[in-house]
Amino acid sequence: MNPMEENKHHGMKDAMEGQFLPMFSFSSGMGQEVLPDLYCYTNQIVNVCLVGDPEKTDEWVLIDTGMPESVNSIIKVVEDRFGENSKPKAIIQTHGHFDHVGSVVDLVEKWGIPVYAHEAELPFLTGKQSYPEPDGSVEGGLVAKMSPMFPNEPVDLGTNIEALPSDGSIPHMPGWRWLHTPGHAPGHISLFRDEDRALIAGDAFVTVKQESLYKVVTQEEEINGPPRYLTTDWDAARKSVEKLEALKPAVAVTGHGHPMSGDELLDGLERLVREFDHIAIPDYGRFVNRKQ
Ligand SMILES: [Zn+2]
Ligand SMILES: [Zn+2]
Repeated sequence: MNPMEENKHHGMKDAMEGQFLPMFSFSSGMGQEVLPDLYCYTNQIVNVCLVGDPEKTDEWVLIDTGMPESVNSIIKVVEDRFGENSKPKAIIQTHGHFDHVGSVVDLVEKWGIPVYAHEAELPFLTGKQSYPEPDGSVEGGLVAKMSPMFPNEPVDLGTNIEALPSDGSIPHMPGWRWLHTPGHAPGHISLFRDEDRALIAGDAFVTVKQESLYKVVTQEEEINGPPRYLTTDWDAARKSVEKLEALKPAVAVTGHGHPMSGDELLDGLERLVREFDHIAIPDYGRFVNRKQ
């Protein structure tokens, strides 16, 4: 990082700068109001959530920040929904993978708002620790094969990020709580609202088979475990899915794939818990330690 670059970001370091991955541009720009106060915007291959009802409040929060080089598309979605020059009270990161923090440095710079994440995820958001290289050898399709070119370097949010409150509450999200759902990443969280059983699951599970480019393109729906090429702890990932299934969510937005609700969601989650070995865990891969 040259000093000019560093300076441009007010002490923050944006490892995602210039990391545009054009092969993922097919489903960009789609948005969906899942609930009156839960809007899901698909930024290339990844979902970003805007939580807060624009009719009722200007207190709203952005969950995750999409792919690298997406700041302008995110701002457009935000301003279309909440009005010109509006900004969230905070950004919550479900975890720090490149496809979820892609625009976080740019957005913090523009909005000057705090970012919150789980304590265990902070090293990956303050430039202290890199994720392991994605596993291109993992059982799976083309996206898994391409995954070694995905950036694994951390962004550095410096003093703009802090740990989520330890009591499970989420700043500026009354009624919601966060749950630690590690496995896919050490400090991965999911967000849950008991009142209507709405779930924002990040990558703890997804509703599309993320390894398969065909299924990513067609967004064929099926509940799957976390994206394989970046999941390093499958035992923890299994427990996290069990924890989320036990909540019996009524509607879920996951990091990848379409929002899902009702029986399709409940049945899919139940099946994922029951057949986790078969559905989620790859047959081979660097992070898999299968007992034969
Ligand atoms: Zn991830
Ligand atoms: Zn992801």
